[in-house]
Order: sequence, then C-alpha cells, then structure tokens
Amino acid sequence: MNIEQFYPLFLQADKVTIDSRKIARNDIFFAFSGDNFNAATLAEKAIEDGALAVIVEQPEFENKDRNIFYVPSTLEFLQQLAVYHRSQLTIPFIGLTGSNGKTTTKELIHAVLSEKFNVQYTYGNLNNHIGVPLTILSIKPEHEMAVIEMGANHQKEIEHLCTIAQPDLGYITNFGKAHLEGFGGFEGVIKGKSELYDYLKENQQTIIVNENDPIQVEKTENYSPKITFGKVESDYNFEPFSEDHFVGLIYQGEKTVSKLTGAYNFTNLCAAASLGLHFGISFEKIKHAVEQYTPTNMRSQVVKKENRTLVLDTYNANPSSMTASLNNFITFEGRKTIIIGDMLELGAESEKEHQNILELAKTLGFDTIITVGKHFKGVNSSDLAFENTAELTEYLQQHKIQSENILLKGSRGIALEKVIDFI
Ligand code: ATP
Ligand code: MG
Repeated sequence: MNIEQFYPLFLQADKVTIDSRKIARNDIFFAFSGDNFNAATLAEKAIEDGALAVIVEQPEFENKDRNIFYVPSTLEFLQQLAVYHRSQLTIPFIGLTGSNGKTTTKELIHAVLSEKFNVQYTYGNLNNHIGVPLTILSIKPEHEMAVIEMGANHQKEIEHLCTIAQPDLGYITNFGKAHLEGFGGFEGVIKGKSELYDYLKENQQTIIVNENDPIQVEKTENYSPKITFGKVESDYNFEPFSEDHFVGLIYQGEKTVSKLTGAYNFTNLCAAASLGLHFGISFEKIKHAVEQYTPTNMRSQVVKKENRTLVLDTYNANPSSMTASLNNFITFEGRKTIIIGDMLELGAESEKEHQNILELAKTLGFDTIITVGKHFKGVNSSDLAFENTAELTEYLQQHKIQSENILLKGSRGIALEKVIDFI
C-alpha cells in the first residue's frame, strides 16, 4: 500500500486512531505492534465494528478485500500520511516548542485565534512523533489554521517533527533546564530546541521572538520574517499586570486578566496576543479569549478549597519551571505550604538541582516545605521528606496543613494530584 493510493480513503474517514478502544464507525485504525499478539483479531473486529480501514504491520494479517492493509511500519506510514496530508493543506501552521509552557501557550493561541478562525490544534499534550502526525491527520477542509505543539527530549527530534508539520510560523517558548539528561546539558537544550529555528530559516518562514529572551534574540538576529514582542520597540508591546495572583497584560492602555497564575504566564499570554494581533484580531476579542480561557489541566491552576487557595501545578516540573513557580507562590498573602515533588530526567545534575531548589525554598521562607520523591529525600533531611504520594497521604490523614495557601508542583511521574483529596 502506498500513500497516494491510500490518501483518497483517508479523506473519507472521520478520524485516524491508534487506540483500539477508540475506534468508531468510519475511522481508520493504525494497529501498532504493541498490539501484536491480537492484531489480527483487533483488525477484523475493527472492520466489523464499522472501521473504514485498518493498517497492520504483519503481512499475514493483510486482507485487502476487507480494507486491512499491510505496511512495513505502521509508525512510518502514519508519519508519511501526515506529511502527505500536510502538503495538501495551504492553511497557516504554527509550530511550538520550548522547555516550558508549550501546552499553555498552545491553548492560549488556540483561544485567541479561535476568535476569528476555525483552528485545529494539538489535543492535550500529544506532541511527539505519534501525536504530531495524529494532530495533522485530524485537520479537515473546514479548518483555517493549525497550532502544533512539538515536544522533545533529545537532539534531532524537533528537526524530525518539523519535517512532518512544516510550520509556517514558529515559536520557542523558552530554553530551560528540562530533559537535561537526553539533551546533554543546557547547551544541548538550546541546540535541540533551535532545530525549529533552523527549519524556519531554511524555509524562510516566520519566527516569533520574545525580545526579552536573550537567547531568542541572539538566535534570530538579522533574520526576517519575524514577529517580535517584549520590548517597547518590538512589533507588539505589552505590560505585565496582575490581579489577585492572576496574570494579565496591558496593551495600548487596555487591560486583560487571565485565569492563570504564575508570572511566567505573562510571556505565554504575550505570544498568544501577538499572534492574534498579527492575524488581525482586535484586542477586544483577544481580551475576550484570554478571560474565557480556563486551565483545567493541572498547569498553573488555582483552586479554592475550604477557604484555602491551592495552586496546582502537578503536571510537570523541572528546575526552571520549579524556580518560576516558587518565586510566584511566595508573593501570595498569608501562610504558605509547598508540596514539591521530584524533578525527573535530570541525569547527572539531578542531585545538585534538587539541592538548589530546596535551598531556594528555604531562602524564600515558606512556612512549611514538604517534599515527595527519592531525589528530594536524598537532599532533604527534614521529617517532611516523603518517598511517594502514598507516604504523604498517610501523613496528611493525621496532620492537617494549616496554611491558607498550598502549592503542589512536581514531575508527572510523581503525580502529586493524588494527594489533593487529603489536604
Ligand atoms: P511538556 O513538556 O510536559 O509538554 P509544556 O512545555 O507543554 O510541558 P506546560 O504544560 O504548558 O509546558 O507547562 C508546564 C509548567 O511549566 C507550568 O505549569 C508552569 O509551571 C511552567 N511554565 C509554563 N510556562 C512557562 C514559561 N513561559 N516559563 C517557565 N515556566 C513555565
Ligand atoms: Mg506540553
């Protein structure tokens, strides 16, 4: 089966899925070899349930009469189909990468651009070599724009994702200390993320630049086309503004405030607003989008619980986002407890980075510091160093946290949200 032969069938499908539990009528199911042992049964069942076609990577399961097609690699076929589909689309594609804030920025850009356009965008955090093609394959003729999150934890990954998504505009949210292990230190992070710039430069596409970020400025010096924000002389200039710990911005004297906490979200908002203005959306409409957007995804979320304020940032953590989060949380009025979970994937720098964060937390002077995870436990000799959420839960069942404000932040693997009900 080749792509061109298959494409007309794809165009008739409602959606492409790789999850056998999510197959609906008229879908195309890509059976990955994880499903090896029962791929044949799955394929047959999918067709019986009304799937339009199934792609398998075992030649013996092919049954062309039933639209079950063999390809040597399901993954490669998925990616090639996405590339082909992309090449048929003429709508603007916005590609996003960076160490922190990709999903938040993506959601904000989507909210803003949706004021005027029908925008397709990365669902959740599906930002890898499978998620990017799936997002592209979900783009229908009625869509007018696409916003694609691209994640990476090693070199050449963004380069590869760029060849699939072929962005017309691109933005790197920031260069931070995330996935240091896979990238080979901070310099490696800069190099790896900058593969987006390399792609855009080679194809003379637009780079969106936060002129407050010296690395972004340096990497895009003398390049055009670009869209800039962050300084008075930038294309778009915003002033930060906050109300009750919610971050907002001021543009030409007009204010808007989001439902996001954390000063770092100012930059995320600026990027979204700049793109909105660039695409001819009025500030009034941008304001509407910003004020309507409600995070529900454990990122910079503020939740009120029995007269207490919980800041839930349990989706992810690394030294840069942890530092930003602590610096933000210390500005809250009243007593403050932090529950911080390990920052995973830091490789050789791990111990030092955990120590640094613990020291920062002590210096800032939170009322109570609770840590969860082996890495923090290794550097934290206090009684409030727990190995996992189960241990912390046990503690919380006997001891009520007294503070009016509680921050929860840690890596995905620690899943700090498990303790919320016990606070
Ligand atoms: P992932 O790599 O998991 O896809 P991401 O880059 O999509 O992460 P988000 O999920 O948007 O990032 O945000 C994760 C956390 O990073 C936030 O909850 C916040 O603590 C922090 N963060 C968000 N934006 C920024 C930013 N611009 N600078 C620094 N930290 C940020
Ligand atoms: Mg993300």
